[in-house]
Amino acid sequence: MASFKTLDMIGDVTGKRVLVRVDLNVPMSDGKVSDATRIERILPTLTELSQKGAKVILLAHFGRPKNGPDASLSLRPVAEVTAAMLNQPVGFAADCVGAEAASTINAMANGDIVLLENTRFHAGDENNDPEFAKALAANGDIFINDAFSAAHRAHASTEGLAHLLPAFAGRTMQAELEALEKGLGKPAKPVLAIVGGAKVSTKIDLLMNLVKKVDALVIGGGMANTFLAARGTSVGKSLCEHDLAGTAKLIMIEAATAGCAIILPVDGVIAREFKAGAASEVVGIEHVPDDAMILDAGPKTIEAINAWIDRAATLVWNGPLGAFEIEPFDRATVAAAKHAAAQTRAGALVSVAGGGDTVAALNHAGAADDFTYVSTAGGAFLEWMEGKPLPGVDVLKG
Ligand code: AMP
Repeated sequence: MASFKTLDMIGDVTGKRVLVRVDLNVPMSDGKVSDATRIERILPTLTELSQKGAKVILLAHFGRPKNGPDASLSLRPVAEVTAAMLNQPVGFAADCVGAEAASTINAMANGDIVLLENTRFHAGDENNDPEFAKALAANGDIFINDAFSAAHRAHASTEGLAHLLPAFAGRTMQAELEALEKGLGKPAKPVLAIVGGAKVSTKIDLLMNLVKKVDALVIGGGMANTFLAARGTSVGKSLCEHDLAGTAKLIMIEAATAGCAIILPVDGVIAREFKAGAASEVVGIEHVPDDAMILDAGPKTIEAINAWIDRAATLVWNGPLGAFEIEPFDRATVAAAKHAAAQTRAGALVSVAGGGDTVAALNHAGAADDFTYVSTAGGAFLEWMEGKPLPGVDVLKG
């Protein structure tokens, strides 16, 4: 990843209208924000710009409106929560372009913050319509993107706009990009990847990319079963994509060619039912009964994974090692996460994790705070792990 422009290069912003693309796609229930993590993450950029005297104008999408404005997908309640968290008023305009936005912005004083309504109320956002991008650009002098989670899409508010105004990464985007650079861009070696989760089918590109970049790859969770079955190990009634045996073999061949060690489970925790507290036992991976399911990695596998974590200088992690939502099948995920957290705390490991259920799994293990970086971006983090270009990031390169 080439270097990108940050707020340190922006110059004097006093009185400038700064359009900031943020991620406010927060979980809501009954019209109220139920998890404010994403809002928390953008506060440093907003505070910094406001204190420097900029007129801070927030652009964000919310949900997936299909046919224009939809009151149930309004960002208005998010403005109120953001204001409370900033301890500073946050104005609101009922449209992100046109007269409504212009009159609200014209009334702003230096240091004020205003949130514009859901950009996806206009089809031009997702279509990256040049006319819509121009209408957005009319409201600003500078563009800042602080929404890494939306950077894998070339939309008007993430990509089109960056061609029309001087464009910079916000503090949260900067932190994310710097962490990713340490994870796979220019990582300290050896690099270990842990990839778990349910299915190989959703992670083929990711696995193909990783085997070329890392020194060792732990494959865990349900997807490990597909690899075990492909090499001829019977996995009983476990979750397994038998039709992907060829793909699994290809990934193993690519790994061997690239000199990447593949670490598969050597034992498993099996059960006959997929429910909390189900009777379970540990078996060697060659001894899974026909009527049983592997729901977690066993103690010998955990030992092997932890030994790899000890050897590694960098760890990149996506996906749980077992059905971690159901006890006792959370043990391998919790043990490896705690071990990686301890190694990171000790200064022996750079640990970067993200995507899908990974954040929930690391929180469940109480390990997230000790990781070097945990990305809350789902799709963008996975596309980065897949080695794909991120259009919203590419336009910020210096
Ligand atoms: P993903 O979204 O692909 O990262 O998959 C996460 C899901 O995989 C979680 O809901 C886990 O419960 C599930 N999972 C992990 N290991 C297993 C397993 N051995 N059998 C069934 N489901 C699993």
